[in-house]
Amino acid sequence: MHSIIIHYAEIGLKKGKRAFFENKLMHNIEKKTGFRPERHYGSLIIDGVSQKKYELIKNELSNTPGIAYFCHALKATLTINSIINKAGKLLGKNKTFKVVTKRSNKAFKHTSIEVNKLVGEHFYNKGFKVDVHNPEQRLYIEVIERNAYVYIEKISGLGGLPVGSSGKLLLLVSGGIDSPVSAYYMMKRGCRIEFIHFYNEKAGVKEKIIELVKILSKFQGRSIIYLIPFRDIQKEIILKTPSDKRMIIYRRLMLRIAERIAEQIKAKGLITGDSAGQVASQTLDNLRVIWNAASLPVYAPLIGFDKEEIINIARRIGTYETSILPYSDCCSYLVAKHPETRAKLEDIERIEKRLNIERLVNKGLRNKEIIHTRLLPTLL
Ligand code: ATP
Ligand code: MG
Repeated sequence: MHSIIIHYAEIGLKKGKRAFFENKLMHNIEKKTGFRPERHYGSLIIDGVSQKKYELIKNELSNTPGIAYFCHALKATLTINSIINKAGKLLGKNKTFKVVTKRSNKAFKHTSIEVNKLVGEHFYNKGFKVDVHNPEQRLYIEVIERNAYVYIEKISGLGGLPVGSSGKLLLLVSGGIDSPVSAYYMMKRGCRIEFIHFYNEKAGVKEKIIELVKILSKFQGRSIIYLIPFRDIQKEIILKTPSDKRMIIYRRLMLRIAERIAEQIKAKGLITGDSAGQVASQTLDNLRVIWNAASLPVYAPLIGFDKEEIINIARRIGTYETSILPYSDCCSYLVAKHPETRAKLEDIERIEKRLNIERLVNKGLRNKEIIHTRLLPTLL
């Protein structure tokens, strides 16, 4: 049987609220892996994991926000012999090594330095090569209340904060490359995210969105998607507004509808995948007018990212291949070849007076479809 030691990221800095963050992380880990970790001196420990289960849990932990790194450890009793015995199973003879001990249990009869020395000498006498400056492997020993843990490998986590610790946000997800990457960044800042998508076509697009959200669910667990048919709303906009302003008006309407859902689900704000200047609708003038339609804050975590940087992250988190599949983007439905890039709020508001905004918003809300994605079944 194996153990896993989980070291968390920024939670350690949260003095008064530390227990709150730890509990969130423990809860999230239990939901994803089926194992409830125990708390020990600023780290979390899962005991009694079989090799087979470990491989599955490893996957889940590397995708759980709030974890700085975790270690695949062997559990020893509180004696030097037992520690040496476990270390012998991990240490490779062909690489130089160094022992690094951390002793949180001050009642243990040896200090960290003594443990380093005793264990190091044992292996040195057996022909292992020591290198205290540039070792090829580090043998970590953690001595806690009732046990010691021994490990070699540290596996990096995502960092950030546990999902749910910062509250809930609603993401406008479009099917492109950017918005799924925004979701990832906000999940890493502890936000639980629900998704809203507006579609014009009857078929095809929904499946793509559901697929993208499923991929993102590996970070936060189950997700909820609100799908809003937008075609009829757009038809009415097309009848009454000039084609160079339509994209802005579509997007303002999306925000208004999203905001109403956000209120219902008690989300504290909206997220978009906007990046300054990337496309015509994303000039600073336009974004100012678009975001003005919402009274909730609109967060755009990618605002300062280059496309190249966004694509790299999309590849890393696994959304890229799905994002680049062709789909019909309803924002560009019957808009001018050269859309407005310097929108003025007064102009747009004047044009919008021709529409019955409240009725259009209600129409969108009335026809919404709600989809619950399940966890990607690695463990379940
Ligand atoms: P993305 O790659 O996320 O599609 P983009 O660079 O194509 O972004 P736009 O199409 O202008 O940019 O969209 C900007 C943002 O507006 C999107 O990131 C998303 O948050 C929101 N958005 C656009 N279209 C939709 C839609 N059909 N449903 C929900 N949100 C949308
Ligand atoms: Mg798009």
